[in-house]
Amino acid sequence: MRYKAIFIDIDDTILDYIPCCREAFEHALEALRADELQTPNAASKVLNDEEWFQIFFSISGRLFSEAKHGLHTIAEVMDLYPREFVGRWNELTQGGEGDLTEQTDTFKYAFRSAWGKTHTLVSGARETLEALHAKGYRLFAASNSFAHLQRSRLELAGVLPLFEDTFISIDIGYDKPDVRFYEEALRRCGLPPESVLMVGDSMTTDILGARAAGLDAVFFDRRHEGVKQEDMQGLRVITSLPELLALL
Ligand SMILES: [Mg+2]
Repeated sequence: MRYKAIFIDIDDTILDYIPCCREAFEHALEALRADELQTPNAASKVLNDEEWFQIFFSISGRLFSEAKHGLHTIAEVMDLYPREFVGRWNELTQGGEGDLTEQTDTFKYAFRSAWGKTHTLVSGARETLEALHAKGYRLFAASNSFAHLQRSRLELAGVLPLFEDTFISIDIGYDKPDVRFYEEALRRCGLPPESVLMVGDSMTTDILGARAAGLDAVFFDRRHEGVKQEDMQGLRVITSLPELLALL
C-alpha cells in the first residue's frame, strides 16, 4: 500500500454540515426565544425561522471563511458567530438596545450542546470508512473544531471506532491549513508525510494545507465547485466518497 494512513476531514466530508448546522440552530433559536421573557416571540413577528437561519448561516459562513485565511482562529470564530447573530437578532427585534451577554451565552451554549449531537452522515461515508478500515488503512479524523464535540458526533454516527484517533484543531493547538496542524498530527501517529493521504472538501484548509506539509491529498468536490488550474498540479478529485476506494 502506498499510504499507511488516511487523514479525513469531518464536516462536509464525513458528516453533512448544512443539516447538522440547521438542527443545532433550531435548538439555539428555541433557547433564545425562551429567554425572551419581556417581549415574547417578538422575533417570530419579524422573520420566519428559515430567514433567521439564513442570517445565521451567512454570518457563520463568512467568519469560517475568514478563519481559513488567517483572520481569526477557530476558537475565536466559535465565540464570534453567536455574538454577531444575537446582535443582529436584537437589532431587528428590539432596536439594538441592552446588554447581550446573557442572550449570547444562551444561544452559544444551546448551539454547542445541540451541535455535539448532530450526526447526519454524508452519503457513502460509512461504507467507505468501513472498506478503508478493512483494507488495513489507519484512519484519523482531521478537523477544525472542539475535540469533544467532534468525537461525540462521530460516535453518534457510529463511525468513531473506525478511527484510530481524532486530530481536532483546538486540541492540536493549530487550525488547518497551518502546516503545524499537519506536523503535529503526523507526530502523533508517528508517520512521515509521504505515508499519509489527506481527504477533504476544502481546497484551502484540507488540500493546500496538507500539501504544504508534504502530504498527498484528494479533493472531495461534493458541491461540484471545480478546481482552479493553479491548484490542480496532479490533484486527484472525487465527487462521491466511494470513488476514493478506486484511487488507492
Ligand atoms: Mg470540511
